[in-house]
Amino acid sequence: MMAPQARKLLSADALFGMLRTGFADIAEHRPGDTDISWTDALMSAFALFSLKSPSLLAFDKERTEGNLHRVYGIERVPCDTAMREMLDPVEPASLRPLFTDIFRALQRGKALEEMVFVEGHYLLALDGTGYFSSQQIHCASCLEMHHRNGTVTYHHQMLSAALVHPDKREVIPLMPEPIIKQDGADKNDCERNAAKRLIAKLRQDHPHLKVIVTEDSLSSNAPHIEVLQDHHLHYILGVKEGDHASLFEHVAAAERAGRVLSYDREDTKTGLRHRFRFIRDVPLNEANGDLRVNFLECWEWNRDHVQHFSWVTDLRVNKGTVYQLMRGGRARWRIENETFNTLKNQGYHFEHNYGHGYQHLSVMFAGLMMLAFLVDQVQQLCCPLFQAVWAKLGSKRRLWEKMRALFYAYALESMRHLFEALLYGWKKMAPILVLDSS
Ligand SMILES: [Zn+2]
Repeated sequence: MMAPQARKLLSADALFGMLRTGFADIAEHRPGDTDISWTDALMSAFALFSLKSPSLLAFDKERTEGNLHRVYGIERVPCDTAMREMLDPVEPASLRPLFTDIFRALQRGKALEEMVFVEGHYLLALDGTGYFSSQQIHCASCLEMHHRNGTVTYHHQMLSAALVHPDKREVIPLMPEPIIKQDGADKNDCERNAAKRLIAKLRQDHPHLKVIVTEDSLSSNAPHIEVLQDHHLHYILGVKEGDHASLFEHVAAAERAGRVLSYDREDTKTGLRHRFRFIRDVPLNEANGDLRVNFLECWEWNRDHVQHFSWVTDLRVNKGTVYQLMRGGRARWRIENETFNTLKNQGYHFEHNYGHGYQHLSVMFAGLMMLAFLVDQVQQLCCPLFQAVWAKLGSKRRLWEKMRALFYAYALESMRHLFEALLYGWKKMAPILVLDSS
């Protein structure tokens, strides 16, 4: 029986090799005063998230160094304390080239073509999420919430960005931007500033990428839209009547004057009915009258159930485009459903505290977990062998459990070897001989 063929350069094994090279570049700038190499420390932390090991301790105890060496190229695995100490001072921004390397490999392998949304443009969903909160544990990178009674809650948040597509479950995350407290800034400022940084870096890394940004209604404000425009990014952004009162009043007045267009659509296949209402060139709000946007509203009926959505966009709104724009606006949910919910509930232990550190450890771990998630998403998108194993085992959780069980018990040559064993069975494989030296 032949294993399904995969695109070799996008296989987990090829990507692990690429990451090792990237980690070695980070390691070059660090003093080598321990007997564990920096590359090994970084690759070990990555392997922890790649295997979805529930804790550093479990990873340490159950590790099989032979497999970590053969599959991940790690010479020596640090103990959990050494790993924490080594990673804590590393600037999380140093992970960005690794995300870019994988993105370029996807582009070269033409794997992103199926993620194109319209006319060569990708949909990029942006959203913030929290992954840590404590009243006691904190570090130099923590956001702080000061309560009236004098107590402080420390927490971590990040702004994530991922290519999404309405028809695809796979998402391609970019390097997340940590949301960090600046003096005198409130939470919204922090998120807005993080968006500014993320967008500037996106354009640095991908100067010519055609992008339509999709976000929730918190992002529909003039300063943010100006940042998007300055960086040549299109947008489909949620708006809410409660937060954008003057915009909705303007639309209501235009409706009374007969200037709002509408379009009804019925999909006989799915039984869904849509009503679209749209108007071009309206002011986003009173304070920023010169910022003009196109407005689109949609009702969707599914038998008795009705849902309502509204967006502003710089893309043309007409009968020919509104259905596709609606799908693009709603694809924003993929960053919550397929990214954050997967990280939190599908075995990645996103909110679990692997160790907080004093400087960057917590942010580094979050970045490395996103990197492991990216490699997994590439497998889900491009690797028929991974897809076959996932289909066979039925759920991601079960897939990771089986993967770990095999990894800890059998001698493996590569990730491909592991996936093949999961698909075809491993009865004929020789178990590792464990010698009890006690
Ligand atoms: Zn912290």
